[in-house]
Amino acid sequence: MTTAPTKPSETKPAATDAQLLGWDPVFDELGFPQDPDNLYTQTVSTMLKSAEIINLRHRVKIILAQPKNEIMVHFPVKMDDGHHRLFKGYRVQHNNALGPYKGGLRFHSDVHLDDVKSLAFLMTMKCSLVRVPFGGGKGGIKVNPRELSPDELMRLSRRFTSAIAANIGPDYDIPAPDVGTNAQIMAWIADTYVNISASNRDVNPSAVVTGKPLEVGGSLGREKATGQGVVDVIKEMLPEIGIPIKDMRVSILGFGNVGSWAGKILQDLGARVIAVADHTGALRNDEGIDCHAMADYCARNGGLAGFEKSAETTATGGNASTGGTPISLDEFYETPVEVFIPAALEQMIKEREAAMINAKVIAEAANAPITPAGDRVLQQRGIEILPAILCNAGGVVVSYFEWVQNKSCVTWDVEQVDKELNRHMVMAARRTNLARQRYQCDLRTASYIAALEHIGKVYTVRGIFP
Ligand code: GLU
Repeated sequence: MTTAPTKPSETKPAATDAQLLGWDPVFDELGFPQDPDNLYTQTVSTMLKSAEIINLRHRVKIILAQPKNEIMVHFPVKMDDGHHRLFKGYRVQHNNALGPYKGGLRFHSDVHLDDVKSLAFLMTMKCSLVRVPFGGGKGGIKVNPRELSPDELMRLSRRFTSAIAANIGPDYDIPAPDVGTNAQIMAWIADTYVNISASNRDVNPSAVVTGKPLEVGGSLGREKATGQGVVDVIKEMLPEIGIPIKDMRVSILGFGNVGSWAGKILQDLGARVIAVADHTGALRNDEGIDCHAMADYCARNGGLAGFEKSAETTATGGNASTGGTPISLDEFYETPVEVFIPAALEQMIKEREAAMINAKVIAEAANAPITPAGDRVLQQRGIEILPAILCNAGGVVVSYFEWVQNKSCVTWDVEQVDKELNRHMVMAARRTNLARQRYQCDLRTASYIAALEHIGKVYTVRGIFP
């Protein structure tokens, strides 16, 4: 059971990320630059703290502390006006002890190598926690996809695929959608790979990516999978925490694929999504925002700004009404809710935001949405955090189902996908709870422990070549 969160003014002054991190001897051994504010260093530090608790072998710790391969490419793309622009792309392959590298491709103007390394690392942890036979990878292009025309986006996706084609493959490294990419982009990647790869006579080379449209081998239930997984974890964990779903108040930060699906599914279960914020603004409606209508509006308008004035705010079911009041981002964080769902980018919840959040539980639908300093403030305030490697693993779980279907030339119906997804998410949540009980730690540490125990056993059995 969690206690009610304390008010922001009651918190002690928080330590900075650098003070909280400590400096593990592994960082010196591997020659990490002395930059404790770096996201990659922070991510590895969280793993090393959990590894310490379970006495994970030193050799496994140093292997996991660095990615196996870091691929960086520069490639030209012809723009609609005829000039060529040079782009920078990445694919980081963190670890493949459990199976082929797996993880999304992000198209975003803030993509940097260290972020991609962190996200690839988190994929290794996520796949291990939910026990799908994949390792961790991540990639991306430094670009704002909103600035490109559909044709430019297609040429960018195809040219990037050709630049990394020798380093991906259905049995080696399998990309998927992430922030700024979607099923259409996966279709272009699959088509390019099938046309240029030496393995185009394999049974199904389009298994090189998941999250594809249904027409080219995508899986039913993949589009909503990450949001569905967030809800599966919330449902499994809330009875333990003592919160009923019916009439539960929810706020969501980020209303892209993950945030909007989590909102729609929770609304249909009878929860009330009373505040939503994205890069264009924030809105509050205590009767419940109609997430179905808002998702449609955002898909057409690129963000929620103006939704309250639109004609589409007609309730489509569940616990929702029309309209809403625009609020500031600070007011958004201060809105009292039972569950707050950060579903946007990394490191958005720092000390300041953590002190304002007025929730009993935070369900991390984004990867690494809270900084170590933010995390400390939230823990001091008694706010329970459902950690990202557990909460947002639904996407890669259904990616695994898509890959299995492609490999075995079968099609699952959506009931089977949802049932298997739920089983994987519930088992991962129980593994995390068991680790928490055994080691008397917070849920984030417990989720890493449950992931690391599995990888540690795999390295013990496999050994390390030669
Ligand atoms: N990009 C998603 C994630 O971060 C999905 C990855 C995948 O399906 O491979 O988990």
